[in-house]
Order: sequence, then C-alpha cells, then structure tokens
Amino acid sequence: MQNIYDLTLEDMEKYFLDNGSKKFHAKQLFEWLYVKRIKKIEDASNLSKELISKINNDFNTDTLKIVEVQKDVDVQKYLFELSDGEHIEAVLMMHDFGTSVCVSSQVGCNMGCKFCESGRRKKVRNLEVHEMVLQILMIEEELGKRISHVVVMGIGEPFDNYDNVMKFFTIINSPFGLAIGARHLTVSTCGVVPKIREFADFPLQVNLAISLHAPNNEIRNKIMPINKAYPIEVLFPALKEYYNKTNRRLTFEYIMLEDINDSEEAAEELCKLVKGMNCYINLIPYNETNNIEFKRTNAVKIMRFYDILKKNNITVTIRREFGRNISAACGQLRSKKEEL
Ligand code: SAH
Repeated sequence: MQNIYDLTLEDMEKYFLDNGSKKFHAKQLFEWLYVKRIKKIEDASNLSKELISKINNDFNTDTLKIVEVQKDVDVQKYLFELSDGEHIEAVLMMHDFGTSVCVSSQVGCNMGCKFCESGRRKKVRNLEVHEMVLQILMIEEELGKRISHVVVMGIGEPFDNYDNVMKFFTIINSPFGLAIGARHLTVSTCGVVPKIREFADFPLQVNLAISLHAPNNEIRNKIMPINKAYPIEVLFPALKEYYNKTNRRLTFEYIMLEDINDSEEAAEELCKLVKGMNCYINLIPYNETNNIEFKRTNAVKIMRFYDILKKNNITVTIRREFGRNISAACGQLRSKKEEL
C-alpha cells in the first residue's frame, strides 16, 4: 500500500478525479497533512466519511521512527529507522539565516567515493518519496520550529534516485505543503552527467552543488570512481549548458584532503578550471572517520589554498564546521548503529 506522503499535489488531484471525486479535495488534504499536521486521515474534518474511508483503504500514513537524536549547540543529528529496519540520517543545522536540514536520499550509496563513509557501504535501496518528506516533517515536529532550508547531501547520491528526489522537492516546495522556496533547496551530486542535463529542465529553481574535490582527472580518478564514467571534460560542458539554461550560480564543494588535493598547484589549477564560470567554491574541512585513512588538511594550509582562490577572484568560502563532536560525517551515525 502506498504512503500518503509519497503524493505530490498533482498526484492527489489525479487520485480524486480518477475516483469520481473533486479535484479541490487534494488541496484540502494537502493542508491537513502539511499545515495542520494531522496524523490520521479521520481528522480531516471537512472530508466526507466515505472519502476518508476510501483514502484509508488506498494509503497508509506510516511515519519513520526516530531512534536517536544527538544534540550539540547548533547542530542536531537524527537517526531514523525505516519500516524495513534500515537506518538513515539527517542533520539539522542552526544558522543565523534560519535552520537547514541535510537529508538522505538512499540507504547506502554506490558511488564509492574513497573518502566517504556512506560510499564504503553499498547501496541497499533508494529512499521512497515519503521517507524523504518525513525526515523534514518529523524534525520540525521534534524541534517545534520550521525548517527554512533543505539540502540533499546526506547518505546517497540523489541523482541515482532522481525521480523520487524531484517529487520530494515538488512536495516540500508546494504552497499548499511546506512551502519551502525553491531557492532555499539544494541538491548535491558527485557528477552524474545525464541527470545534470535532465535537472536543467526541472521546473523548480532548486540550486545545484557539485562535489568536485579535485582540479583534474588524475586526482579525481583516485578518489571518485564516477570520474571514470564522466571525466572533467564531460562534466564541465554539461555544467556550462546547465548554467546557460538556468542562469543559476553553481556551487562546487571541495573537501580538503591532506596531501591529496590541497597543494598550491592544485589551487592554481582549480582557478583555471572554473575561470569565467558563475560559481562559488566551498572548501570543506574533511571530517575524519575511524574507518578511512584520509586526513584533514590543517587550517593554515586551507587558508593558503583559500588565498590563492581569492587572489584569482574566485568566490570562495570555508565551510563552517557543524557536528564534529557528534559523528556528523555523512553516514557515520548509521555505521555506528550497525557496528560496521
Ligand atoms: N552524493 C552526493 C551527496 C551526498 S555527499 C554528492 O556526492 O554530492 C555530500 C557531500 O559530503 C559531498 O560533497 C561529499 O563528498 C561530502 N563528504 C563525504 N564524506 C565526507 C567527510 N568525511 N567529510 C566531509 N565531507 C564529506
């Protein structure tokens, strides 16, 4: 049986029409679920008894189970259990501009990035739409506050679960749902080129971040297997095409890994690679994990790298660190839970 939180407003309208009912009930039900936050369909008091029992026959309203919340000053990490016993994580961050949540898109990941805890473990399955929507709903409820920004940067490769992730965006963006503005939504990919092209035509203005992590194929091949399928000379034309279509500034994420991609030459090469593009580069201090050998670049060397980019007029920031004390590296909490 399908979960009610899998449905976009459009899906719901079609459902009501297909069942000989009226389209406007979809907006009513959407508001019950996402604004008034009812837990069972019976509480939708402006729907008829017959309609309620029809909906209950066709859909369930099951939620996820929060099995652990780790709290720090401005960050909280949630471990969820899914109905089949699998675990995923989401991270809540308190910024001065609002609160953002980093959601997972898959159980595990097949991209195999060498430095990543999630990639160390194979993909078990894609997340269903409701499993992403409920990460947001349940965190809002636990927190008692609205989430203003959402990034799909947790466990998984969102462009390997493209259709569900786009439906998720459609639901949380809907003015009758959570109404989170598209410009407050971001999806991050390791560089699945066919989906980057498809995403350029997605109707909502969701931001795109690319996990670049290297200025050339030689380094990128060593740490990111996806680069063998879609090397830099294939990735970058797709990104330029994306920009020409959407006019939206790109974000490049660049994890600083000691002695791998953090030299001054690498910084110079990175400048050449992105020259002329409307983009910004986010330097990320690597979150070391027990299971992986990579080390983080020290702060002095990160600053040197940053300065080279600045000097070349590249817009660059160093990511503020959240949750170093609470296993916030992507996939760490899930690994601990399952003792792998
Ligand atoms: N698969 C997508 C989204 C999930 S990973 C992607 O690759 O973009 C989200 C980001 O966290 C990516 O930039 C990833 O490279 C980075 N990341 C993974 N492990 C990390 C770690 N231990 N420390 C810091 N960043 C990490």
